[in-house]
Amino acid sequence: MSTPPLRLFFAIPCCPQLAHEIVDWRAQNPVEGKPVAPENLHLTLAFLGSQPRGQVEALAALAASLTPRTFILHLDRLARWKNGLLHLAPSQVPPALADLERSLREQLLISGFNLETRHFKPHLTLARHCPRLPSTPTPTFDWPATEFALYASENTAKGTRYHALGHWPLRPPAPA
Ligand code: ATP
Ligand code: MG
Repeated sequence: MSTPPLRLFFAIPCCPQLAHEIVDWRAQNPVEGKPVAPENLHLTLAFLGSQPRGQVEALAALAASLTPRTFILHLDRLARWKNGLLHLAPSQVPPALADLERSLREQLLISGFNLETRHFKPHLTLARHCPRLPSTPTPTFDWPATEFALYASENTAKGTRYHALGHWPLRPPAPA
């Protein structure tokens, strides 16, 4: 019997401390819609969709071949897209984040994966199906990114949950 495919994506996980701060802010403000579970808060780098399990090893090797650098993501925008996705975003994309997304995308394309062609818009989703932007001052959060991961998105009794299949560190810049 063949094993079912996995729904895969690469993302930067939100560390528990920042997730706690964000969830606290969300609870104290008039945020409508379906909140993203604290353990699911993340920034998607590349969405691969349905893939055979046998691809995980090649994806892990590809991720391990990258040399990404650490960065601090300054989340200073609160916005809602017309598909109802309420999110936090940076007004400036750190070069190290842009480099990581670009190198990952290039290697995935070279390896034959199909990726969407839309421009990369880094964001952390707070809630889905959100009918309106909350009328609240925009919060700011500093997110020290130290790793990225490959996730399988799974349907569970508690809703969608992400299962990490591998983590890779971001490297601090070499001292000057
Ligand atoms: P659910 O869809 O069950 O509400 P979810 O969106 O968190 O939950 P997935 O749909 O598996 O779970 O998506 C995992 C990640 O990939 C999320 O960051 C999601 O925004 C992103 N994603 C999903 N579909 C696409 C797509 N077609 N293109 C780009 N990113 C996508
Ligand atoms: Mg989805």
